[in-house]
Parts: sequence; C-alpha cells; structure tokens
Amino acid sequence: MGPRVLVIGGGASGLVAALTAARAGAAVTLLERGPGLGRKVLASGGGRCNLGNAGLEVGRYHGDRQFARRVLGRFGLAESLRFFEGLGLMTVQEHDGRVFPRTGQSRSVLAVLESSLNKTGADVRKGCEVTGVRARDRGFVVEAAGGGAFEADRVVLACGGASHPQLGGGELGYRLAESLGLTVSVPSPSLVPLVSKDPWVRKLAGVRVDAALSAHASGRQVAASRGELLFTAYGVSGPAALDLSREVCLALRGGAEVECRLNLFPESARPELERLLLERARTLKPLSPAALLRGALPDAVAEVFLGTLVKEIPLHESPTEEAVLTLARGLSRWRFSVCGHRPWEEAMASAGGVRPAEVSSETMEARALKGLFVAGELLDVDGDSGGFNLHFAWATGFLAGNSAAERQNAILRP
Ligand SMILES: Cc1cc2nc3c(=O)[nH]c(=O)nc-3n(C[C@H](O)[C@H](O)[C@H](O)COP(=O)(O)OP(=O)(O)OC[C@H]3O[C@@H](n4cnc5c(N)ncnc54)[C@H](O)[C@@H]3O)c2cc1C
Repeated sequence: MGPRVLVIGGGASGLVAALTAARAGAAVTLLERGPGLGRKVLASGGGRCNLGNAGLEVGRYHGDRQFARRVLGRFGLAESLRFFEGLGLMTVQEHDGRVFPRTGQSRSVLAVLESSLNKTGADVRKGCEVTGVRARDRGFVVEAAGGGAFEADRVVLACGGASHPQLGGGELGYRLAESLGLTVSVPSPSLVPLVSKDPWVRKLAGVRVDAALSAHASGRQVAASRGELLFTAYGVSGPAALDLSREVCLALRGGAEVECRLNLFPESARPELERLLLERARTLKPLSPAALLRGALPDAVAEVFLGTLVKEIPLHESPTEEAVLTLARGLSRWRFSVCGHRPWEEAMASAGGVRPAEVSSETMEARALKGLFVAGELLDVDGDSGGFNLHFAWATGFLAGNSAAERQNAILRP
C-alpha cells in the first residue's frame, strides 16, 4: 500500500495531482468544496478550454519566473499533450499556437480527467470544504467544515487563487498555506477587464480592434501587449487589455495614475505609418481627415478618434501635411486613463500567492515541511491569456502528484 495522499481542491491542478498520485500507487482522497470538480476547467476558453500553448516560454509568466522556467523544463507542452493523449483526449493547435481539445468542448477535458481518476479507485468527496490542516510528527490531520477529519501521510494544497469566487476561487487556500508556515504575498487580480471613465472609450462599447497597448504608471511603462482589444460600456477587455491588467492592478494598488496608450496600426512603425498616410493623402486627395481614414479603420473608430482631435486639426478640410502627421501620432498613441479594474468575479487569474522559493520546483514539496505539496494558481506564478495558466496547473499538479506518491519521501519530520 502506497502513502495516503490527500489533495485539497478538485480543480485543474488537484485533479491532475490526484490522478498522478493514484496511478503511482498512492491511496488518494480528493476533497473539493464545490458541488462539482473542475469548474474553472469547464468555463475556460469560453467553454472550449484553451489547455496549452505551443509558444510556452517563461516570458509569458509573471511572479517567480525562475520557478516557472524550472517547472516548464520538467513538464512542457510535449509532456502535457502526451499526458492528455494517454487519457484519450485528442487536441488541436490553432494557427496562433493555442491548444484546445479536438471536440472544442471543455467538458471533454474534464470528462477524461474525472473518468481516469474514478478508475483508480480514488476517494473523491464533493461539497467538502477543508477548514484546517495540522502537521503532526507523522503526517497530517485535515479538518473539514461540519466537523469531519481525515488523516494523511501527505497533503497537496491545490486550492487555486482568489479569482472567480463563483467558480471556487477564494482566499481560504492562502490561509491554509500560511497556517502551515508558508509565506503568501497578497493576491491581486490578473487577466481582468479594466475600467476607464474617458467618455470616448465608452462611446466605442462593443467595437473590437487589433491593437498594441502599453500601460504607463505615473509616466513609466509597466506593461505592453498586442492582440484584440474590446471596448466595453465600462472600459476595455479582450486579450490586449487582459494581458497587461496584472501590472495595471498592481500599479493602481500602489496609488499610481495609470494611462494606456493604444496603437491602432501595430503592424507599422511610426515613420512607416506617416509615409503611408502621406501617400494616401497624395493619391486619394481626401476632402477631410475622415475621408483619409475611410477604408483603413472601422468607421466608428475613425469617427470617435477624430472627435478627440477637434482642437488639434481642422476636420472639414483636406488634411495638410502637418495634419497628417498629427493623425499618425494620434493613431499610434491614442491615450486613455484607467481608474480601476473589474472585480475578482471577472478576473481569470490571481497574481501573488504562496512564495515559490519556499517550494521545490522539482517536487512541489514545501522545503520547510516535508509531506506538504503545493500546486497550481495558489503559487505566486501567473500566466498571460492563451493557455499558460492551465498549463502551469497541469504541470505543477503532475509534479506534486508524482512526488507525493513516492514511497521514499520522508514522512517523519525532524
Ligand atoms: C472564466 C475563466 C476562464 C479561464 N480560461 C482559461 C483558459 O482558457 N486557459 C487557461 O490556461 N487558463 C484559463 N483560466 C485560468 C485557469 O482556469 C486557472 O488558472 C486554473 O484553473 C487554476 O487551476 P487550480 O487547480 O490552481 O485552481 P482551480 O481550478 O481554481 O481549482 C481550485 C479548486 O479548489 C477548491 N477549493 C478551494 N479551497 C478549498 C478548500 N478549502 N477545501 C476544498 N476545496 C477547495 C475550489 O473550489 C476549486 O475547485 C480561466 C479562468 C477562468 C475563471
């Protein structure tokens, strides 16, 4: 009989940790407080589950990047695809590198994980919230809401982060980690839509553009992104906004004034854009700046953009060379201020969490407490949108599950 491994949290990392440990011979119990397993997996990728990315590189991760680098070195995309293939899941890679189940349905991902776990005979308890974990001389006692208690040789903390409380997110995992002596940095939302009170931003609600975006906190650039930007009734969303929201939230929390600069022609450097617009002005002989932009930008964007330039250029005459250069400057650095972010309910990930330096990147075991393992978003590593967060959850869950099941792992504390 292998060690008794208790996994707290039945999300992405906990499912993989439980399955891996059970397959390696451990007697596994999985405790999940929600009514079902993998609720974020089901919601992920708009119901399609963007489970990985061919462009896995450490630059797409934040928090402790060195830790992320070592984890990716042990469990990269090839290992993840092999793992899922072994469960029967077929995957496809889209042109931008994002990986999805071939079915286009996140429930296929959960189904192969859940059915494989059931086959191992693991004891899975849903609706069971862990309220305390105590380390003993030998193993652990895990207390559940309602008075139940479980004994285990090893414990895997896979409670996720604070994002999306309606799908199981919350701060209880951080408190459990702290109670076991781990250091936790205050969580802050990541991959969250941003709020702007600038009227022109709201005028464009519903419009999508391909853009480059940079965020500046009190004048200093803190993040940059490229991709689709979606204007909304409250501000901005879409991958370009989500990918820099982490740094924006941290800057706002530090009291900085935050401004975003939007480049509507990310494919052209400014001199090239100036040449392009001057050439259009020469050949099209437009009767107004609006006519110059027609066919180059969506009408609504051109109209709102020109509305912000009324003081700088005459809008009802053929644009002069100077006006064209003013347009080029505006199009490559259209500014709007950011005054906040949407709540945790809309964040897809959490920055902050358990300090990775206190955990082995090889085994996910806490350095100071043998037998305790940490996996997933609970750790202070978060990724960009595009499958990076789920990959990190699978990878750390796999490493934690494998090492928690090892017989030689010391379960006696000094
Ligand atoms: C709407 C949405 C869409 C997303 N889309 C993508 C995507 O397409 N690609 C991508 O890479 N990432 C995506 N993410 C992020 C990704 O889902 C998470 O990073 C990932 O699920 C983290 O895995 P985890 O196991 O650490 O945490 P979770 O999956 O959140 O699982 C943690 C589990 O622990 C349980 N739990 C917590 N505390 C306790 C306790 N005390 N006792 C018992 N159980 C407990 C929770 O109920 C939860 O089920 C998305 C997130 C959201 C919210």
